Amino acid sequence: TTATSLFAFDNSYARLPEHFHARIPPTPVAEPELLRLNRPLAEQFGLDADALSTPTGAAILAGNLIPKGADPIAMAYAGHQYAQFVPSLGDGRAILLGELIDRDGRRRDLQLKGAGRTPFSRMGDGRAALGPVLREYLLGEAMAALGIPTTRALAMVATGEEVYRERIERGAVLVRVAAGHVRVGTFEYFARRGNTEAVKTLADYVIARHYPDCAETGQPYRALLEQVVERQAELIAQWMLVGFIHGVMNTDNVAISGETIDYGPCAFMDAFHPKTVYSSIDRFGRYAWDQQPRIGYWNLTQFANCLLPLLSDGEHDAKQSARAALDTYGKAFESRYYGGLRSKIGLLDERAGDDDLALDLLGRMAAQQADFTNTFRALCEVVVDDPATDAPVRALFDDPAAFDQWAAQWRERLATQTQPEHARQAAMRAMNPAYIPRNHRVQQAIDAADEGDLAPLDRLLEVVSRPFAEQLERIEYRQPPRSDEVVELTFC
Ligand code: AMP
Ligand code: MG
Ligand code: MG
Repeated sequence: TTATSLFAFDNSYARLPEHFHARIPPTPVAEPELLRLNRPLAEQFGLDADALSTPTGAAILAGNLIPKGADPIAMAYAGHQYAQFVPSLGDGRAILLGELIDRDGRRRDLQLKGAGRTPFSRMGDGRAALGPVLREYLLGEAMAALGIPTTRALAMVATGEEVYRERIERGAVLVRVAAGHVRVGTFEYFARRGNTEAVKTLADYVIARHYPDCAETGQPYRALLEQVVERQAELIAQWMLVGFIHGVMNTDNVAISGETIDYGPCAFMDAFHPKTVYSSIDRFGRYAWDQQPRIGYWNLTQFANCLLPLLSDGEHDAKQSARAALDTYGKAFESRYYGGLRSKIGLLDERAGDDDLALDLLGRMAAQQADFTNTFRALCEVVVDDPATDAPVRALFDDPAAFDQWAAQWRERLATQTQPEHARQAAMRAMNPAYIPRNHRVQQAIDAADEGDLAPLDRLLEVVSRPFAEQLERIEYRQPPRSDEVVELTFC
């Protein structure tokens, strides 16, 4: 295989009108070094992983060599950052090389993040530091293994250059694969300029690419809004159920495709508390764990506002259509969230009082500083008729009696189910991961990588790629941080 035939690109976004993007190639880096290639993901695209691992492959993945068929662009977008509207953000350090079709016929963007300055860079250097690149690589893989929609990394390349952040860091490029990079902020970019024509072009684009069913309906833009609402509701419910905190739910970080995107100062919680925040820049807790559902709705409201000019026709009032679509959010979220909580505690169907039972557990976990992941996982091992099996889970509560009180009610409820015990336990183990990328482990992997040691990254990747498997030989990865390992804040 030669470098020029490695990829079979299409460039549908680059074919959109000129003001949708800036046509600009990646800026070459000093010394590309392929740090990691995601071979299973390469395989899914039918890419030649061995060819990508050569110096030529690394040069392409670093942006030093533009593969044949690529039409590199930086996408234009705006966004609400911490509720403040910023009319022009855009890809300040990311270059979209083009789109690939995977083995299942799905179109995916291939983007280089950290690929140099663009017309949207403002004061930024266009580069990325190794730490955040590694975090995004790792968290994307963990999220995918948990079955949660997400962008993923195809590769991570060191640039051989220094980047200046809080301190001097190693530079890196993340090669990102996404269902699409159109964001709520992309719509806002055109809507705020009063360019209804462009909003329509963009809406038609995302319908054709992500929501083709909408085109068959009498009101395609309302159907689009409804589907985006539903996917966001589901996505955020899924985050909540694994204790994930995105950290920067600005509208420029909300993908229309419904994937988790832009892993910055994000984290999975250790001890459960609904107000948990990790982001060093989220001073007021706007994006705390328990705020995410509300913020999701706020972000979708911004999206709905963009679509208003497309929603009115002879028969329908635009604002009414928008409101009706937005009104489906609460139900979609609650059904996915409470359905998930019920499954996490082993309930097969929905009965009166179930949601309160689940919320009661969360309340006790928060009061008792119980570890989110470990509590639900240890709950899988409880046998209804054998109180001795409670020992591991009750030990996670500061005051184990708080668990015992809850467990008594839970046992009563479980007794109403006829399913064999082992089947319930197996179902619970498939819902409650044993392994998440704990923040201190991610930090250890970053610290080691800064020193040139990728072994901790590899071990962690392996563990979080099979989150539901017991992996008893890796049980130390289930431990919350020791007091000297705690990472209070995460930086992007
Ligand atoms: P983010 O916080 O990564 O979602 O980025 C918000 C905006 O800042 C986007 O427009 C990015 O492209 C831009 N940005 C972030 N970091 C840099 C950088 N180092 N150089 C240029 N633009 C950046
Ligand atoms: Mg252009
Ligand atoms: Mg972003």
